[in-house]
Amino acid sequence: MFEALADRLEAVFKTLRGKGRLSEADIDATLREIRLALLEADVALPVVRDFLSGVRERARSAELSRALNPAQQVISIVNEELIRILGGQARRLRFAKNPPSVILLAGLQGSGKTTVAAKLGRWLAKQGHTPVLVAADLQRPNAVEQLQVLGARAEVPVFAPEPGSGVGDPVDVARRGVEFARRRLHDIVVIDTAGRLGVDEDMMRQAMEIRDATEPDEILFVVDAMVGQDAVTTARAFLDGVGFDGVILTKLDGDARGGAALSVASVTGKQILFASTGEKLDDFDVFHPERMASRILGMGDVLTLIEQAQAAFDAEQAERAAQRITAGELTLDDFLEQMTAVRKMGPIANILGMLPGMGQFKDAIAHIDDRDLDRVTAIIRSMTPEERADPKILNGSRRARIARGSGTTVAEVNSLVERFFEARKMMKQFAGMGIPGMRRTTKA
Ligand code: GDP
Repeated sequence: MFEALADRLEAVFKTLRGKGRLSEADIDATLREIRLALLEADVALPVVRDFLSGVRERARSAELSRALNPAQQVISIVNEELIRILGGQARRLRFAKNPPSVILLAGLQGSGKTTVAAKLGRWLAKQGHTPVLVAADLQRPNAVEQLQVLGARAEVPVFAPEPGSGVGDPVDVARRGVEFARRRLHDIVVIDTAGRLGVDEDMMRQAMEIRDATEPDEILFVVDAMVGQDAVTTARAFLDGVGFDGVILTKLDGDARGGAALSVASVTGKQILFASTGEKLDDFDVFHPERMASRILGMGDVLTLIEQAQAAFDAEQAERAAQRITAGELTLDDFLEQMTAVRKMGPIANILGMLPGMGQFKDAIAHIDDRDLDRVTAIIRSMTPEERADPKILNGSRRARIARGSGTTVAEVNSLVERFFEARKMMKQFAGMGIPGMRRTTKA
């Protein structure tokens, strides 16, 4: 997807290279080319207009006249505007204060809802959640069975009406599904609902009834990125009907032009939370507008590559640290090493949220400020190797020196050291209990 658009934009930028300064005429010609490229990619007209006016305004402003390399400036503006129409910052799922959280999937038949239910369930389980899928699509033949098969493959439990119990009432199934989750302590319920080939009143009414019966924390509109302009019309109908809080794009692996992907967030004002990129259960991930923009601009998905490299690197490091933790030998150096690795991977709250068993600490995690971690890093860096290896030697004068060296206060140094000792104690206890994801060593 997006190859054609990427090629056209690349050609546009090529004509700008080598120019020392951009004239009004250059800008106009460039915008005309970008407009054509977007329309060809099937992007909705209002979105194209919005996009171009954003680029035009910024291209004409002072920032361009100062440019050393106008082509790069234009690419950077187009990049930022692309990110904006794709929804800006990635948004995370909202969870209920009192579990279970309810996620309702809505969309047309064939959009990929049932597949998404299983993929999302698997994704959530990997994050340490205990989701259950509810088969409330009783319209499409085999939808229940399909969800059961996919759920089994994804190793996520499925709540479905008893086979042979007749057609059943989807609203009732959804309600009982949420009850089931509450009784069995599943923290998230993903409800698959019926879709039709086109938007129709019955379907919309049913989705609204399920919504009212289950009070979802998130209603996610599932849309097939291959359907082009129609996606925008459908999205509007769903927004006016059942309403939704976010979007899941499917079939981003298709070879279509991708206009839907580029239009839906902007037209509905709702962010794209996830993208599905293939038939396999793992072809599913959080949608990152900035990565999508760099892919379209042909910069490749550099961030994903970096993340993958880091994931491999972390595994070894974590293993070493885990061994020291279980032996009660964690040092401040380990602490720093872990923190630096984690810090490179993005906002700390996202990372912690992904650790197994962290679901219950969601609220606390949401309040973590990354800048605090930077201060902690500065404090540890101001210590000598002896101090890091054996923080017990940190007396008053050492602490005062460290505070000066790191631009912090003695109180902050004290609090870090205290927290470190507590963490070490706690980790040792946890290790003894064998928490998931942490290997037990044989050393007693
Ligand atoms: P539903 O009617 O909305 O529940 O749609 P389904 O989940 O049954 O999906 C319809 C078809 O699209 C199935 O054949 C899926 O295998 C396929 N599908 C779903 N998601 C993707 C995707 O991301 N990429 C590709 N290539 N196919 C997909």
